[in-house]
Amino acid sequence: MGSIFGATLFGIDALVVEIEVRLLSGQYGRFLLTGLPGAAVRESRDRVKAAILASGYEFPRKSVLVHLAPADQRKDGPLLDLPLALALLAESGQLPHERFPRVLAAGELALDGRVRPVRGILAIAAAARELDIDAILAPAEIAEQAALAHAAPVYPVRTLAEAMAVLAGTASVDPARPAQPEVDVEGEDDVRDVRGQELAKQALAVAAAGMHNLLLVGPPGSGKTMLARRLRALLPALGDDASIECSRIASVVDPTRNTRVSRPPFRAPHHTASAAALVGGGVQLRPGEITLAHNGVLFLDEFAEFPRVVIEALRQPLEERTITVSRVAGTLTFPADVCLVAAMNPCPCGYRGHPKVACRCSDHEVRRYVQRLSGPLLDRIDLRVEVAAVDVRELLEPGPRTGSIDLRTAIVRARELQTERFTRSLTRVNAQMSPKEVERFCVPDPEGHRLLLKAADTQHLSARSVKRILRVARTVADLRGSATIASADVAFALACRTTLPLHE
Ligand SMILES: [Zn+2]
Repeated sequence: MGSIFGATLFGIDALVVEIEVRLLSGQYGRFLLTGLPGAAVRESRDRVKAAILASGYEFPRKSVLVHLAPADQRKDGPLLDLPLALALLAESGQLPHERFPRVLAAGELALDGRVRPVRGILAIAAAARELDIDAILAPAEIAEQAALAHAAPVYPVRTLAEAMAVLAGTASVDPARPAQPEVDVEGEDDVRDVRGQELAKQALAVAAAGMHNLLLVGPPGSGKTMLARRLRALLPALGDDASIECSRIASVVDPTRNTRVSRPPFRAPHHTASAAALVGGGVQLRPGEITLAHNGVLFLDEFAEFPRVVIEALRQPLEERTITVSRVAGTLTFPADVCLVAAMNPCPCGYRGHPKVACRCSDHEVRRYVQRLSGPLLDRIDLRVEVAAVDVRELLEPGPRTGSIDLRTAIVRARELQTERFTRSLTRVNAQMSPKEVERFCVPDPEGHRLLLKAADTQHLSARSVKRILRVARTVADLRGSATIASADVAFALACRTTLPLHE
């Protein structure tokens, strides 16, 4: 008798579940499930029975006892349907011979015996690696996603009968090949499309190179959203580990996804999104937007419109690059390493500082509006760029413009410099530098030093502001491929500050 395993999801991780079936003679028609089955697992009784009968097999004329081990972990979701049906058919002697001693299967069963896709197939397949599994059976639509785990051969199955044939060795089904990268959307959102806004474009390159969080402040129609959307094309392609990590997260949210994530994700939740939607959690303990944006960009348009409680929920993940959510169902930690881009109007009416439209807001109203952003959160935003209203003349000017591809070469090189710099530290990019690392790696040349001192005096810069400026200047120099931070690098960092009366 071989063993049949299924799995259950916890956030973006899977727990392998062994399915034990016993047929009890004497009593007829009872179907007992033990081992903390959740509502969706309890309902699987009916689906499994219908699918078995519809596929031409016999449902045992005895009482059925199914135990899901380990017993102390709650299991939920319809993904145990397929392994449960297979274990039942094996126990009742309908699976002719065992081709694979240890099989892991995941799939929801339709009443007619079809196998439907389930969430988190990549996490499930990866969990098989620890258990010496001989074969994985996965819904055909997402079998390639499962094969990305390289844990065991993944057999795509469309129906319960096909799954049985694979296990009996009577069907010639080839194992799935690993999923291909998603269709590349490169060139769709190129910075070349944005006219003017040179400072903001450079700031995007700096954000991409050092993963600095970025705040874009400007009136409606200044192109803040257009700019933010172009950050994605500037980020280097994901490395192998990051690509698998992002694919795994994506497959938990989108059960039908069958491609590999290769470009950094870009997520833009609306300001009506709840805190749980943003940072994760809820009854199902699903990852939130900040985890879906992991290794990529989290864009919050209309930043000041997000409720304070939602914005505050971002503080911890921006600091720690992970997010821990606690609910009745348990505590989970999700990855949350993002480049945050926030965009907002400079004032409630939107036109503060506009050359043509008069602002209707009082100083008090402006202050109340921008000070909704708390100091601790702002402290994590190194770049605060004012995006001016677009001058029509600029729009008509043809002129040479730098494209995303050109900038990306410098960005990739700047990343390499950072990798060399932080070989012996947990820090990976300049935005993550500790105060000690700032002291060590961000020393401007004498002229840059003088410029910074002068600005600190005249603009009353706080120690925190100075550290932010130095981190940014370090990345600007890295983009030039220079070990030395020159005064021009400091000057650029000083330009990436807003005159808004923000909390500091
Ligand atoms: Zn205004």
